[in-house]
Amino acid sequence: MVENNVTEMQEPLITVRDLKKSFGSLNVLNGITTDIIPGEKVVVIGPSGSGKSTFLRCLNCMEDPTGGSIIFDGENLADMKVNINKHREKIGMVFQQFNLFNNKNVLKNITIAPIHHALRRYRASKIKNFFTLVRNVFVSKEKEKPLIPINTSRKQIIEECNKNAYSLLRRIGLEDKAKAYPSTLSGGQKQRIAIVRALAMNPKVMLFDEPTSALDPEMVGEVLNLIKEVANEGMTMVIVTHEMGFAREVGTRIIFMDEGVIAEQGTPSELFDNPQNPRTQQFLKAVL
Ligand code: ADP
Ligand code: MG
Repeated sequence: MVENNVTEMQEPLITVRDLKKSFGSLNVLNGITTDIIPGEKVVVIGPSGSGKSTFLRCLNCMEDPTGGSIIFDGENLADMKVNINKHREKIGMVFQQFNLFNNKNVLKNITIAPIHHALRRYRASKIKNFFTLVRNVFVSKEKEKPLIPINTSRKQIIEECNKNAYSLLRRIGLEDKAKAYPSTLSGGQKQRIAIVRALAMNPKVMLFDEPTSALDPEMVGEVLNLIKEVANEGMTMVIVTHEMGFAREVGTRIIFMDEGVIAEQGTPSELFDNPQNPRTQQFLKAVL
């Protein structure tokens, strides 16, 4: 049983209200309302086509909702002022199909985003300092603005990101694959690398969309074990999966989605041992 780091009164990390999404005349999400609290492991189950992937994609701004709202870490994602790239930095997303860059080695796969973001911040600080310096020339001493301390260099930033990537690879026992290309790896290795690649950005939440569905059966365990470890460290997670044993073990809350709504939700034992909704009962009978 995964430790439950959830305390009832905590501010939600994600507040979803009456979320709707249609593709033309097809209504895929029909009003999803839920709060996701820091430390929660929300497992989403439900039949194919019920809108599970669309829901995750809305959380990550990969789909534009047709209605309702998502407040993430205090920001309304519908607000045009929200910087989508900055928002996505806070979210680690792991897909069924690994989605590694096949033309980049494992190390580059892990470091590309962290290096990009660190260098962007570094350049922004330097530019800000330049304008502050110019401004300070024209104002009296007591009105001078302080400069942003920059005690690092481009080279140091890259070294730091590489070091972090190596320690993540060491953690999953794949340090020797740092220079290998994804095509030479097994599905399980690729997916574990995709997971630590997401972790390298220090996200506030990890979203998993059927992370083991494309794997050969013998590789499912290693990927689920890594997800369990990350869960135990306190990460907030939303996981879409068909692995019911894993859902029960890791989930602090199970959501059963059907036809674009939350048809039923509860603790693993409420949902799996005593489902109330006939649709949940029918679904579980088919998959368990
Ligand atoms: P699930 O992940 O639960 O299987 P999805 O969210 O992937 O469900 O899809 C729900 C429904 O939305 C499906 O009928 C799917 O065909 C449809 N759908 C998903 N994405 C698109 C899209 N980009 N354009 C049109 N229809 C889509
Ligand atoms: Mg899906």
